Amino acid sequence: MKIGFIGLGNMGAPMAANLVAAGHQVTGFDVAGVTVEGVAQAATGAEAAKGAEIVITMLPNGAILRSVAAEVLPAMTTGAVLLDCSTVDVASARDVAAEAAAAGIGFLDAPVSGGVGGAAAGTLTFMVGGSDAGFETAKPLFEIMGQKAVHCGPAGNGQAAKICNNMILGATMIATCEAFALADKLGLDRQAMYDVVSTSSGYSWSMNAYCPAPGIGPTSPADNDYRPGFAADLMLKDLRLSQQAAEAVDADTPMGARAMALYAQFVEEEDGKGRDFSAMLPRFERRGRSD
Ligand code: NAD
Repeated sequence: MKIGFIGLGNMGAPMAANLVAAGHQVTGFDVAGVTVEGVAQAATGAEAAKGAEIVITMLPNGAILRSVAAEVLPAMTTGAVLLDCSTVDVASARDVAAEAAAAGIGFLDAPVSGGVGGAAAGTLTFMVGGSDAGFETAKPLFEIMGQKAVHCGPAGNGQAAKICNNMILGATMIATCEAFALADKLGLDRQAMYDVVSTSSGYSWSMNAYCPAPGIGPTSPADNDYRPGFAADLMLKDLRLSQQAAEAVDADTPMGARAMALYAQFVEEEDGKGRDFSAMLPRFERRGRSD
């Protein structure tokens, strides 16, 4: 396939490299001038999009997606598909989908989970919103860049699935970390705590697969001095998107709101910036009830 790839950052570069390795013809563009081996470099986004059957975007946020879409949609061939893999607000995804439809272009929102490691290994999970026809067109590429693609419904539903999942993850990680810190103060050994909770009703992905306590459970960023992994800054971004969406549809999300406030404090006022999101554990460890 002839593919345009716009946004060759931490995620986009390895994703584009995997498409090249699978034999696709990829032309890329990044404002930062990033180059990826095997990816032809375009001078603009529109140039990367011209003549492509699929244009993939992997960009920082919804405002940038909107501006890139405004530039590339007119350059795209009728019937081609714009596949946005960035994590953006639901409203931007749905607005860009409408603009694409008006221009005779298909649109899929397909945010990912799996992080930089998953992007490099080609094991991402895609949560996809958009038409059945668009999903079928993009399916072979999902199979190269990832191990699972779930079609969640019409445009915007991929982003909806992503922020609901990460809202659960943020709240669960905080609950797991505060419980470890409480266990410490009660004199309960961390290994015993893990052995009980990971096989009891408090179990979760945060406890069982990504345990925030160093030396306990499977290897995780906690065992690497809390280097990300999944950075607390990115968790904060996703929690903000979840609360923005919740406000827009009048959904009551008190746990999501509290998780957002705690990650905002951690990243913006404490030492959370650049650390893994499980570094909430050493944060709780140091605190008392009145801090
Ligand atoms: P990044 O900042 O490393 O990459 C974004 C790239 O987009 C940068 O290289 C930037 O120069 C480029 N860019 C910005 N504006 C542009 C424009 N107008 N035209 C062309 N290129 C432009 O970010 P990332 O970590 O690769 O994340 C990309 C997206 O994936 C984000 O939406 C993020 O939330 C999401 N995501 C990231 C992870 C992760 O672990 N890094 C995991 C899941 C989802």
